[in-house]
Amino acid sequence: MQNSPYALTIDGQRVFSDETMQAINPATELPICSFPLASRVHLESAVSAAQRAFRAWSATALAERQVMVAALGDLIEQNQEAFINLLITEQGKGRAAAEWEIGGSIYWCREIAKQSLEEELISRNGDDEIVTRYTPIGVVGGITPWNFPLLLAVWKIAPALVAGNTVVLKPSPYTPLCTLWFGELAQTVLPPGVLNILSGGNELGQWMTEHPAIGKISFTGSTATGRQVMRSAATNLKRLTLELGGNDPAIVLPDVDAKAIAKDLFWASFANSAQFCVACKRLYVHEDVYDDVARELVAYAKTVKMGNGLEAGVELGPLQNKMQYDKVSGLLADSRAAGLNFLLGGTPMEKPGYFVPVTLIDNPPEDARCVVEEAFGPVLPLLKYRDVEDVVARANDTHYGLAASVWGKDLATAERVARRIEAGTVWINQVHVFAPNIAFGGHKQSGVGIENSLHGLSEYTNMQTVMRKALA
Ligand code: NAD
Repeated sequence: MQNSPYALTIDGQRVFSDETMQAINPATELPICSFPLASRVHLESAVSAAQRAFRAWSATALAERQVMVAALGDLIEQNQEAFINLLITEQGKGRAAAEWEIGGSIYWCREIAKQSLEEELISRNGDDEIVTRYTPIGVVGGITPWNFPLLLAVWKIAPALVAGNTVVLKPSPYTPLCTLWFGELAQTVLPPGVLNILSGGNELGQWMTEHPAIGKISFTGSTATGRQVMRSAATNLKRLTLELGGNDPAIVLPDVDAKAIAKDLFWASFANSAQFCVACKRLYVHEDVYDDVARELVAYAKTVKMGNGLEAGVELGPLQNKMQYDKVSGLLADSRAAGLNFLLGGTPMEKPGYFVPVTLIDNPPEDARCVVEEAFGPVLPLLKYRDVEDVVARANDTHYGLAASVWGKDLATAERVARRIEAGTVWINQVHVFAPNIAFGGHKQSGVGIENSLHGLSEYTNMQTVMRKALA
């Protein structure tokens, strides 16, 4: 049934489905258009196509694969403005955030295309040699969430292809459009079957994770789903990269200038309307500067415009979907019922769209839901501390370990604290610095494995040791 400009991409072809779903603009709650829901039959076709394409693709010279992956970035760039508008419309983010994501997608394609894993010579003695090399896995399944739909897809597609794998990727059913379009454009560069994009519901993700011909799953999403992915992947002992949730702490030391860091602290917490795995979700502030930081944060927050990302000047959009809106609204209701003190916000807005106002909660108890849970929405608890030992213990008292930040003028002190935080990334006086050559991954239940850098690239390979010995 062809009732939408968006199609699945299978074996280089546009494919439609009898089953469709509506993509909703979260700023208006109005439908954008329908998109196809892939069935098990579509998945079988896509995996078969990827298996067939793997033979030639994995045998293609690395340099040729790199040129094609870089060209994927060119395709996005040639359509940059349209991608930005589509991303704002389907995800809800503001213009600057959309520019960052689309620009990042272009950049990642180009930079990952420069990466390669060299063979390692372990020893050589005459004709005898031991070498360790990296071979592709086969068909890689990518599964992405709705907060950075295109960038996180590129984080999987680019290294998987450079490493010589073929890909079947499933975007979130909440934000499939940019990824479906990208998959279609990519067919002008890639051989058929190398990159297949299937939009579908959660069940499609589960079928992928159980599929015996998919050799690896690279998954970004919640920790709860990550556990299910790990369970299903046991069927054929799939390789796994899991980028999961976080409850990232930020620790503000007593020597800061509150006014000078308020803006950075704000964006550390509220960028992408806090739908950011590495958003600061617990802000620990030393008691000497607590009131100053609280005041400056409130003052800065009042200058930031929330609304439809297509309108000029809007920096924060709505939550991406009704499910998340209800979840965050429930957290606010719980916080109100618990009698917590709001420095700002606290009540969902009365207007169309899934808008939740920037909410700052004043020193709630450490076991309050707004402290313990990953809100994944613009609700930030400010927590007072006196003693560094105490704050390090509180920051680490979580089963998450994705990222953290420490803020202080005395860099040596700040770094001492940073090195004691149990998280995959710890920023000092900055946040959200990512690059294709910087390893990113979670500790504890925030993930398994790494994305980006040569460590990330190597996760799309098997290591193979070849030992050669001459016959006498
Ligand atoms: P989610 O886990 O609900 O969904 C993610 C993807 O998994 C979607 O495509 C979904 O359809 C699919 N899925 C759902 N059930 C599945 C199953 N049983 N098997 C396989 N796939 C299944 O997550 P979300 O709500 O889309 O995203 C928000 C979460 O993602 C947050 O917890 C956030 O912290 C996390 N996240 C982590 C990172 C990171 O890099 N660590 C980045 C972005 C988001």
